[in-house]
Amino acid sequence: MAGTAVAAAAQQASGAGGKQIVISSANGLRACAKAMEVVKGGGDTLDAVIAGVNINEEDPDDDSVGYGGLPNEEGVVELDACVMHGPTRRAGSVASIRGIKTPSKIARLVMEQTDHIMIVGEGALRFAKAYGFREENLLTEKSRLAWMVWKRSLRDAGGHNNWTDGLDAPAKKPSAELQRMFPGVSEELLAYAWDRAVHPPTGTINCLALNLKGEMSGTTTTSGLAWKIPGRVGDSPIIGAGLYVDPDVGGAGSTGRGEENIRVAGAHSIVENMRHGMSPKDACLDVLKRVARNYDNDNARLSKFDINFYALRKDGEYAGASLWNGRIRSGQLRPSTFAVNDGGKSRLEKCVYLLERKA
Ligand code: ASP
Repeated sequence: MAGTAVAAAAQQASGAGGKQIVISSANGLRACAKAMEVVKGGGDTLDAVIAGVNINEEDPDDDSVGYGGLPNEEGVVELDACVMHGPTRRAGSVASIRGIKTPSKIARLVMEQTDHIMIVGEGALRFAKAYGFREENLLTEKSRLAWMVWKRSLRDAGGHNNWTDGLDAPAKKPSAELQRMFPGVSEELLAYAWDRAVHPPTGTINCLALNLKGEMSGTTTTSGLAWKIPGRVGDSPIIGAGLYVDPDVGGAGSTGRGEENIRVAGAHSIVENMRHGMSPKDACLDVLKRVARNYDNDNARLSKFDINFYALRKDGEYAGASLWNGRIRSGQLRPSTFAVNDGGKSRLEKCVYLLERKA
């Protein structure tokens, strides 16, 4: 290892700097503020990040996480989550769990109360119920409608769909036909549902917290890809992909197309890059290059998805990074951002990126 890398690694190991920082995906402004409140109050860093993401998990309007998350192709919400607790170097995870609003809490129970790391599907639900969690319907009216619009927009090769009497192929706006099919649904809600059907969204929250003692924990929680095949598991609950924390170095997490992240073991690769002296920013960009390499750097295919990484080093240096500079919506570039709280108000910062879309 080069001299500077050795020095950087030594500084990271000592936790020098004594900073308290929480970072998360862009949907985590409230989560970061909540987590920081817990950190400032002297709480454990895992308590902090879980309390933070619980806000998104319980929010019916966040359609990418927990309650109100967009369902699988059968209209059933299936959630994935994991946690890592730096101070004890432990991890827990649940995948494809149904009926429980806060999978991050169940992942923590797996970590604390079992000799396992990951529990999935029916077993995860039974495990949660054994600990007193109530099984609930996680589909909101809004997410059910989005699913139904998606279902009705599908066509076989002959242009037919058994779930409709003839809605035409995807149009730019909810058509009059669509309004006829969903009478009594406001135009605004139909526009939302149509947008979700035509641009199946990704979403998720990853949150990492560092306290003044240099302790760090993280969590990632999601409803995964909208309209997925039942049982599909993305990167979010995979330790080393959706999240990785090594108390000697730092932590990393991801949101976006999970299939790409699993193929590069993203969070673990970023932490290893930082261990060997890279800054959080360079560590993330290096892994994004591996994602691009898996497509032979073919921008046409890469343009079909996006993926974001978040990294927080033990000394408090952090970065958010995305494959693309942002998304184009209505001809405008919406830059990729991530949320940060270093003790005051949460703010969004721009991600560094590998590739550029033009507005
Ligand atoms: N990473 C999540 C998954 O693949 C989805 C997302 O973050 O948008 O399940």
